[in-house]
Parts: sequence; structure tokens; C-alpha cells
Amino acid sequence: MAATGLVARFTLKVFALEIVRAMELTTILNHCHHIRGFVYQTARFGPDKKTIEVDVRPRQGAAVVCSGCHKPAPGYDRLRQRRFEFIPFWGFLVFFLYRMRRVHCRNCGIVVEEVPWSDGKHQSTKAHMLFLARWARKLSWKETADSFHTSWDKVRDAVEYVVGWGLEHRTLESIRAIGVDEIQYAKGHKYLTLVYQIDQGLTRLLWVGKERTIESFQGFFTVIGDQLASQIQFVCSDMWQPYLDVIREKCCQALHILDRFHIVAKMNKALDEVRAAETRKMAGEGHEPLLKKSRWCVLKRKENLTSKQQLRLRDLLRYNLQTVRAYLLKEDFQQFWKYNSPTWAGIFLDFWCSQTMRSRIEPMKKIARTLRAHRPLLLNYFKAKKEFSSGVVEGLNNKAKVTMRRSYGFRTFRILELALYHSLGKLPEPELTHEFF
Ligand SMILES: [Zn+2]
Repeated sequence: MAATGLVARFTLKVFALEIVRAMELTTILNHCHHIRGFVYQTARFGPDKKTIEVDVRPRQGAAVVCSGCHKPAPGYDRLRQRRFEFIPFWGFLVFFLYRMRRVHCRNCGIVVEEVPWSDGKHQSTKAHMLFLARWARKLSWKETADSFHTSWDKVRDAVEYVVGWGLEHRTLESIRAIGVDEIQYAKGHKYLTLVYQIDQGLTRLLWVGKERTIESFQGFFTVIGDQLASQIQFVCSDMWQPYLDVIREKCCQALHILDRFHIVAKMNKALDEVRAAETRKMAGEGHEPLLKKSRWCVLKRKENLTSKQQLRLRDLLRYNLQTVRAYLLKEDFQQFWKYNSPTWAGIFLDFWCSQTMRSRIEPMKKIARTLRAHRPLLLNYFKAKKEFSSGVVEGLNNKAKVTMRRSYGFRTFRILELALYHSLGKLPEPELTHEFF
């Protein structure tokens, strides 16, 4: 009887101990962020009571690994204690405290050890960097830094780590279709060249290049190599000559399609020029300001006009103005995209161009000359069965612009490159065993 009581009391004591242990931070840490070969020893408040510090020590008997060759090596000495920032917890910043060991490696000499939670270069743990980087995709970098009580630089480091890992581990197989486009990122004509994969099942940013020169676009082909480049079947681009040259050289087997969106944009720009010049001219000659507030009437597609704008347009069409004639030419050109056969589309294109060349409207004539010069590339759109319209590239480019606005802080090439890869690259991420949300 007494023996059973003793056992019961003993069991109760063990049970109570279990509860206490289960409440310990190190237990939770072991559960969500187990580190092979290491032990969480104790967790306590830091001196300021605003941080939690967790002592980490090597597990007895576990091998020390050389950070140079990733192989076990005999220990040499230990360095000063370092703090590694971990994911914040209930409003407390969390740090791992650990004294890195150095190894005497046969291949690498005396080198600091490799630890699983850190890449050795940063003060943050890998988990913390992945945590910040994921938020930095949803919020701006500054908002991320503010939300988690860290600095903009730490967020940048986190994104850099995750992007670097992703670029190293991404697969670049079987790219069937690419789109290339430029994007302005600062005043004074600073451009980036962006290359997207635009396959039906996979659209992502593949590459970011500085400037929009032949050399910058060639950089993309250096990254993917000749083998992959020779498998590309479709290339979508605008009429920027350096791009055209590189595509002809590197992707001669691919069907090169001119981007519909850019042609429409060019035409709108020409029309706007005509309208602005004519408005000035009419004002100079003392005519009534017919074209005032007409900009959107002529630039928008007819079906997108408000009823007020439609009335205004009908009004305008009564006058034999250059703007009106240019507008009609532009509207007429919409017909081009509706063809299915390259032959008929070609006949239409020739007809439109000769009509426009007789219009005596210089900006429109310039467009016609450009379209004539790129006739084969324009007709490739129909040969590709309209499969790769620029809609995809345009959509990706709009996302790129949003990303650039959000990563504000420093508009350097490197920062933009990171931000763009991070949000549009669909890069793989380093894996954690636990989902930190
Ligand atoms: Zn080594």
C-alpha cells in the first residue's frame, strides 16, 4: 500500500516536472528550430529585460565542421561570444549566444566552424533572415524594419541572403519563351533591362541587367549559356535596336515577336505629339481652343470613353484637324491585331502604311516608317498564333514598377536588382522545418 503511494507520488512529481519543462523556452525552440549537433542550454532575459538571450552550446561528441570545405575537422580554439538574432517572440527580440569554434582543417588551415543556424556572414540567423525576407515581399522594406524592430539594412541583408540562395538553387531548364523589356529607374535616363520567362505555365523574372545596351542584354545569355539559349522558341521584345541585334545573334532559331503593347504605346505618343503641336498652333492663330481637354478622348480606346468624352469626341470629329485624322489612323490600326493569317495582316499593314505616308502628319509618318522597317517581326505575332502577346510582359513590368516604388530608400542598381528578383523571380527559398508565421 505504501509502495503504491510512493510510486503515485513519484509519478506525479515527474508529471509536474514535465509541465515545467514544457513551459521552457528551450523546449519550444527545440521543437520549432532544432539545431543538429547543438543544444539550447538556457534562456533568460537580457540585462535590459527587452530581449531574450539563449545560450547555445555544442552537443557532446558531435563533430566540428569546417566552413571552408564543409567536412569535419579537429577543433582548434574558441572565439569570443557572438550574438545571432532570431525571430522575435511575444514582443521580445531573441538572440542566440554562442562562442564560435575554430578548426584546424587539413585542407583549409585554421578556419572558423560552420554552424547550421547562420551563414557566418550576418548577425541574423538564417531563420530570422527568411522571416524578414518573406515580410519584405508583402510590405515595403522600411515597413518591415519598423514592424519587427530592426533596421532597413538588416532587411536588405535578409533579402540579399534569400535572393542569393534562390538564384543559386533555381532551375533554368526548358525556357520556351522569353520577353525582354526596359524600365526606367531614375531620372536622367537610367534604365534596367529585364528578361522574363513567359511560358504558358511559368512566368517569372529571369534576369536584371544594368542599362539597356547590347552588353547588358548579352549578360543574360552568358548566364543561361548557349545550350539553353538554343532551345528558346519565342522572344518578345520592343523595337529597341540593341535588343533586336542581340536576339538576332543569340536566338536566331527563335521566332522574334514585336511587342504589341509597345507599338500601341508608340502610336499614342505620336498622336499626343500631333495634338499638342496643333493645340499650340491654333492658340497662336487665335482660334477657339477646340482641342482643350481632348487628350483622353483621342488617346483612350473608343469603347473606354465616358459618355461626356464620347460627346466631345463626336464634336471633334466634325473638324478636319490633323489630330482627328491621326486619331482615325490610330483607331484604324487596331484592325491589324484582329487578323489570323500573317498574309492578310501583311496586306493590311502595307495598306495602312501607304495611307499614313500620304497623311502629311509627320509623327504618324514616322510610325509608318518604323512599322515598315520591322514588317517581318510584326508578322511573327501571327505566325506565333498570337500565343505570346505582350500582355504577359506588360503585366510583369507593371509589377516591377510597383516593386520599385515599394523598395524605396536607396535607388541603386543593386537594391532594385534584389527587390525585383525577390518579388518577381519565383525563386526557391531555403527550407525551415517549422512554419514561422
Ligand atoms: Zn576545410
